[in-house]
Amino acid sequence: QHALDEREHIGIFNEDMLRRSQYGHLLEASLQGAEQRGELSLLYQPIQDLRTGRWVALEALMRWTHPSLGSVPPGTFIPVAERAGLITALGDWALRRALQDARTAQHIAPLRVNVNVSPIQLLSPDFAQRVLDILREQDAPASTLTLEVTESSVMQNVDLACRHLERLREAGIHIALDDFGSGHSSLGLLADLPFDTVKLDRSFLRDSARGGTRGALLGSSVRLAHDLGLRTVAEGVEDEDMLQLLTHYDCDAAQGYHIARPERLEEVLGRLQALRPR
Ligand code: C2E
Ligand code: MG
Ligand code: MG
Ligand code: MG
Repeated sequence: QHALDEREHIGIFNEDMLRRSQYGHLLEASLQGAEQRGELSLLYQPIQDLRTGRWVALEALMRWTHPSLGSVPPGTFIPVAERAGLITALGDWALRRALQDARTAQHIAPLRVNVNVSPIQLLSPDFAQRVLDILREQDAPASTLTLEVTESSVMQNVDLACRHLERLREAGIHIALDDFGSGHSSLGLLADLPFDTVKLDRSFLRDSARGGTRGALLGSSVRLAHDLGLRTVAEGVEDEDMLQLLTHYDCDAAQGYHIARPERLEEVLGRLQALRPR
């Protein structure tokens, strides 16, 4: 039925659009129930404290391995899941798994686990309640969890987003503003919103490495965040120079391929044990 409908529209859709939309339909159909079939997994990327050098948190990054298409990147399947109404199921799965993994990690180090939240999850009426229910069901302490939300999702409905985030913070969960600097808002606008941490988008570092003007912006963003009582984490640290720059600007923590790539939990914990002083 879908294929037929699309062939009739071939005059207005070009071939590439048709292929993409068929691919989209295929992904959407395949994604249904992927979490139950064991096709989803989480990789973890460490966040390093720049003063102590210790790993303080792990960001959970979802992966989907389709049985015949292979690995589909989150930049592709997350939007499909959002459009198809599947993101809540995927998000709940990720939160449960991350809390279970956080418990395993606690045996080795006091790490927080960061879980990404889609705008659709954040702006659903029962979001805070769902998170609290899953925490209770997993018998997990709220103090090990950080939720990462983007400024654009908060800005879509500031009242609702803040109500959820305030409730979650009262329960002891940390909230991080993800990808800050990739959109249009200023930190000043965000002064009254309930965040603990600002994650500085990797475009800051990318640009300053190319000699761009955002190096200075990076410094002033860190200072402003500190004035507002927020911790700063820089994303996308790809070399030693970037790490030095962040230390120079007094950034609190960093994440990126230069520190560690996203890996399976066992691998991350193995590295952590190797790093730990005996
Ligand atoms: P994000 O939350 O901003 O995650 C950081 C992304 O940057 C990850 O891409 C990570 O692999 C990548 N990255 C880390 N260090 C570096 C670096 O040094 N250089 C470069 N170039 N990239 C680096 P990934 O894993 O492909 O995830 C992409 C996006 O997909 C995430 O961006 C997040 O928005 C979304 N996502 C991933 N997992 C989930 C999830 O469980 N739920 C939701 N709703 N979204 C997720
Ligand atoms: Mg994130
Ligand atoms: Mg990010
Ligand atoms: Mg980012």
